[in-house]
Amino acid sequence: MCECKLLDNDTPYMIEKVFKRYPSTTTIDVLIEYAICFECAKKMRKQLSADSLANVEAYMKSKIDIDARAEFVSKNSETDKWMENCVFLGDKISECNEFSIQGQFFNDQMLLTGMPYAVSENAMDELAELISPETKDVLDDFIGKHFSGPPEVEEILKQNRFILI
Ligand SMILES: [Zn+2]
Repeated sequence: MCECKLLDNDTPYMIEKVFKRYPSTTTIDVLIEYAICFECAKKMRKQLSADSLANVEAYMKSKIDIDARAEFVSKNSETDKWMENCVFLGDKISECNEFSIQGQFFNDQMLLTGMPYAVSENAMDELAELISPETKDVLDDFIGKHFSGPPEVEEILKQNRFILI
């Protein structure tokens, strides 16, 4: 959004990638990937409806046991393990046709903050149902401005099946 240089900046940033797995092949495609600096992510959050943010926060709180997650990440130094199961639902990511991973970064380093984590397609669907029509409009505007792609990607973008914030 602000086009700041992420590798040479005082602002941390987030990367999200959404993947598609093709059944009975070993092919995994990246459908969407983007990086957003924390300042812009904050600006985006301000445009989202209070209801949507409250719904998403309540969902995250109800699905993630923060203490258990903190203990898990402190005992497993391999971050690949952090992404083996959906952070919300526990679904096996290796069995998801679509999934997303997210991480936080600063310059060229990944921040180990409980992120990186993975989100299953089921959780993406549940999250998409929690956001208000106004918030969907804001996200659609953002998507229209910053993304384009083949029909299957457009479909995913329209469903808001990624998390952004
Ligand atoms: Zn920015």
